[in-house]
Amino acid sequence: MIEIEHVSKSFGEKTVLKDVNAAIQDGEIFAIIGPSGSGKSTLLRMINLLEVPDGGRIVVDGTDIHAERRRTLEIRRMMAMVFQKPAAFNESVYDNIAVGLRMRHVPEREIQTKIVDALEVIGLSGYEKRRAKTLSGGEMQRVALARALVTDPAVLLMDEPTANLDPVATATIEDLVLRINREFGQTVVISTHDMLQGQRLAHRIGVLMDGVFSQVGTPREVFALPKNKHVARFVGIEN
Ligand code: ADP
Ligand code: MG
Repeated sequence: MIEIEHVSKSFGEKTVLKDVNAAIQDGEIFAIIGPSGSGKSTLLRMINLLEVPDGGRIVVDGTDIHAERRRTLEIRRMMAMVFQKPAAFNESVYDNIAVGLRMRHVPEREIQTKIVDALEVIGLSGYEKRRAKTLSGGEMQRVALARALVTDPAVLLMDEPTANLDPVATATIEDLVLRINREFGQTVVISTHDMLQGQRLAHRIGVLMDGVFSQVGTPREVFALPKNKHVARFVGIEN
């Protein structure tokens, strides 16, 4: 589904990603785990076409997304991203969720149906008219998730979606991610600095350190058999 091949990226003098490689499979939850500043957001932003690699390539559904511009719009529409800080637009929950559908010129009546369904999935039925700014962080992040889901993306990208949430709201989001992946089969790429979240959610983990995936494997593999002392220390610290 998503092949990351020899991807590198520097900002000025600073090399963030040196040689990142991973093949993310269709329908899996893949967690990018690494310390703050390791390049998790940069990598996700590249998959989402918000950033261009200096070297290497990212292939989504057979297309080198940064080289073959012919399918750019189509690729963009295959993906949806949830950010660490949900943008609280000064508008209703309904309008927040409708954004991506309106860009696609979906008829308003269809938008209404999709939003009712999405609100039910995220447990916020009846919230259509609420001002987004009056929601709690956890509710807002669920709305961001609904906004991503209504466009039926094949790939859901989530950049530390629970970093600003309390444990209860975090658990709610985690349950939703698991349920969505199970029921709708979306490929989920989620970044986190929390090893335990990776363990709870992911089919496979990529440990991003020093510009490379030091290790890619199931949570069990990474915890039981860390490949080197840096991974071991990171696993240990976050435990
Ligand atoms: P993470 O998400 O793992 O915390 P980031 O991908 O946000 O890491 O950032 C990795 C490094 O790249 C950081 O040192 C950050 O300051 C730097 N960086 C990210 N984006 C930019 C940018 N647009 N310009 C300059 N430096 C950047
Ligand atoms: Mg980040």
